[in-house]
Amino acid sequence: MRVHLTATAAAAVRRGHPWVYRDGIADGGGHGSKRGDGKRGERGDGKRGERGDGKRGERAHRGGAAASGDVVELSAEGAPFLGRGLWDADSAIAVRVFQRTQAPPLDERAIAERLERAFALRDGWFAGRDTTAYRLCNGEGDRVPSLVIDRYERAAVIRLDGDMLAPWLDRLLPHLARALGARGVRSIGLRARASAAGEDADGKKLAHLHGPPLPDRLFVRETGVAMEVDLARGQKTGAFLDQRDNRARVRALAAGRRRVLNLFSYAGGFSVAAALGGAGRVTSVDSASAAHASAQRTFRENGVDPAAHEFVTADAFDFLEKARARGDRYDLVICDPPSFAPSERAKPRALGAYRRLHTAVARVLDRGGILCAASCSSHITAEDFLATLDDATLERDDLRIRAIHGQPEDHPTLPAWWEGRYLKFVVLE
Ligand code: SAH
Repeated sequence: MRVHLTATAAAAVRRGHPWVYRDGIADGGGHGSKRGDGKRGERGDGKRGERGDGKRGERAHRGGAAASGDVVELSAEGAPFLGRGLWDADSAIAVRVFQRTQAPPLDERAIAERLERAFALRDGWFAGRDTTAYRLCNGEGDRVPSLVIDRYERAAVIRLDGDMLAPWLDRLLPHLARALGARGVRSIGLRARASAAGEDADGKKLAHLHGPPLPDRLFVRETGVAMEVDLARGQKTGAFLDQRDNRARVRALAAGRRRVLNLFSYAGGFSVAAALGGAGRVTSVDSASAAHASAQRTFRENGVDPAAHEFVTADAFDFLEKARARGDRYDLVICDPPSFAPSERAKPRALGAYRRLHTAVARVLDRGGILCAASCSSHITAEDFLATLDDATLERDDLRIRAIHGQPEDHPTLPAWWEGRYLKFVVLE
């Protein structure tokens, strides 16, 4: 099937942007420009697994010629062939672009070849790093749009953004099983989407696809550190793998720090890193108590006594307010909240929330302390985010930016795909 793009959408495709929004379609797919649904601002956030789904349930009923997963050929004024992609009948993203060349045909063999390339890169990147959990395929960033695959020891967990690859899964599975099996992966599971109805009665969000049953929970290794991952019920595909290198950085920064505060600590990745790095006492704050239970098992697995540290189930803003009132001070604070800006429209509010948070954090950061502030929203640029860490916000003038980090190599992006570069990790000292 052919889909004719507007000039703007065609230019983006030429640059290598992998998405065509519905309003970028001039004609074709049974879904023309008359809809003009203006969903551009609704694409989700790169990190929390809700990327680009927009409003679901608004089927392409106008004409409805194409079904999710159909191969479409893209054209535009003066460009009879722009590329090839897969159609999504439901998502705000109508087409995810796979290639801009005529050959080879877009079939499971072509996709399998790209996957093999992605896996082979990881073989090299993670050789000898004592790391058994990493992203095997980062969808668009690995030129396999929509397909995210994370490895946890002998298990691989797939997450699909949008619907277009779901009809392909059966055909791709034998290729995946072979390529991953050769690398020691025995089981493959499928993670339900963030808020999807894919959760069964006991809250499990993981469906079995191949091999022995996947464990609900397991320990992986990350840069030499043991880490419990909740595959069945945890966030994302189980862990925030994108903070791996930043956790290693925190481990180094924690040496000799007496009191460390990890806000939004989830399964305690930054906490155990700080403890192993030599921090005296680490306080982990998260609103989810199950996350603390997981963190404590991770502490024990690494030979660290959780009783020597503190796990607080509380709202981070409330905690900071009380900590300040008590006069508590910390000499290293890690602050990695969930995305405050799931859409472009939410941006002003999100910036305000980051500011309030950073003001409160700065009030409990001791003189000479280090602040690690993270943002995982692609709608907040690095400059936007730094503006929420300026002197006026922090009410102090003694800090400097020591480093700005992002996501690790197993979360690659494309030059034109700015949405993929979501993670900011700013170290102020
Ligand atoms: N830093 C973590 C990831 C954080 S994810 C890591 O590297 O693994 C965000 C976490 O914030 C979740 O665990 C969620 O339970 C928690 N959370 C969300 N809102 C919160 C709030 N207002 N106060 C405290 N924790 C919150």
